[in-house]
Amino acid sequence: MISETMCRLGKHRSVIREIFEYSKQRAAEIGAGNVFDFSIGNPNVPAPDSVKAAVRELLDTQDDVYLHGYTSAQGDSETRRAIAEDLNRRFGTAFHENNLYMTCGAAASLKICITALCVPGDEFLTFTPFFPEYRVFVETAGAVLREVATEPDSFQIDFGRLEAAVSENTKAVIVNSPNNPSGVVFRKESVRRLAELLSVKEEEYGHPIYLIADEPYRELVYDSSLEVPYLTKYYRDTLVCYSYSKSLSLPGERVGYILVPDEISDAGDIYAAVCGAGRALGYVCAPSLFQHVIAKCAGQVSDLSVYKKNRDLLYRALTDYGYDCVYPDGAFYLFVKAMEEDAGAFCEKAKKHELLLVPGDDFGTPGYVRIAYCVTTDQITRSLPAFRALAEEYGK
Ligand code: PLP
Repeated sequence: MISETMCRLGKHRSVIREIFEYSKQRAAEIGAGNVFDFSIGNPNVPAPDSVKAAVRELLDTQDDVYLHGYTSAQGDSETRRAIAEDLNRRFGTAFHENNLYMTCGAAASLKICITALCVPGDEFLTFTPFFPEYRVFVETAGAVLREVATEPDSFQIDFGRLEAAVSENTKAVIVNSPNNPSGVVFRKESVRRLAELLSVKEEEYGHPIYLIADEPYRELVYDSSLEVPYLTKYYRDTLVCYSYSKSLSLPGERVGYILVPDEISDAGDIYAAVCGAGRALGYVCAPSLFQHVIAKCAGQVSDLSVYKKNRDLLYRALTDYGYDCVYPDGAFYLFVKAMEEDAGAFCEKAKKHELLLVPGDDFGTPGYVRIAYCVTTDQITRSLPAFRALAEEYGK
């Protein structure tokens, strides 16, 4: 006998991974240039030159044993100090190195946080649409994930629904803004109301309800006037899960962190539980070389102007062809209403035009499809006739 759950997770890849594999197979058949793969959130913009320079400098100047050796489990102290200083500079906070725990990216940050907080019977809430792996992380920790539907079309928080969903079993609410897959950013006013509601519920139930801020897209916003509220400043019991996968285009290097502020309820025990969960999950420490790179490059970002250009091009063209899209403030996804009820069937029709899109069902939002525009602008330009032809099939 082996674990049925793990076997099922291994056999049934995520829909995104399935499409990604199909894309490779189709590219071999008809040439990569003829497949319009919009399935995966793999940044197409390279890491900034400063990352390359940091890697070179580290390799040239540092002792190999130090550079490739284990760091302490919570991460290299110089790296954590550099991150705390960067956060304090940007958000006017007062974090220090011992608020930070280095991880192998946001996926690991989330899994560690959820495992650290979870006791049997717990419920974690999240807003639709949401990153499908939340379900995997929550359920394999022995808890229940409850989806809270957002306002139709705008995907902003529906406070009536949220209030109805919170119960004495609620351990945490997972918030992802800028959002994958909708690109929506929760505004200050929403964040204030969210904080107020959770504070009232904490009081009512007599225990903390944590907010888990899943923030791999924090820096990916395209209108300079738009502020992405830093949640620890609005709600005391906030943990932040961050990753350099998108902001520095380093998804394969697996580096990120968990922030456990001093102010949160049971801060000392929560930080210890985070260390314990990292240990129990076998992470040992985050990759050493890239922790040292982050010590030099925290706060920098890749050239994000390409994503803005892609967003504007794709949003304008698709709305022009008759697609109904949510205006994405950030991240690098466009969330579009399928032109028939069954988004899976719509994606199959799109495939006939070599357009690889992801149905919204696994994001908790049937009837929508996700288009990842972290691709070359050239791919978008060349794909537009296919998007137009697909819309025409539906009489647009
Ligand atoms: N959270 C969200 C919302 C994501 O979109 C992703 C990846 O796409 C992750 C977490 C995991 O990111 P990482 O590559 O840092 O593990």
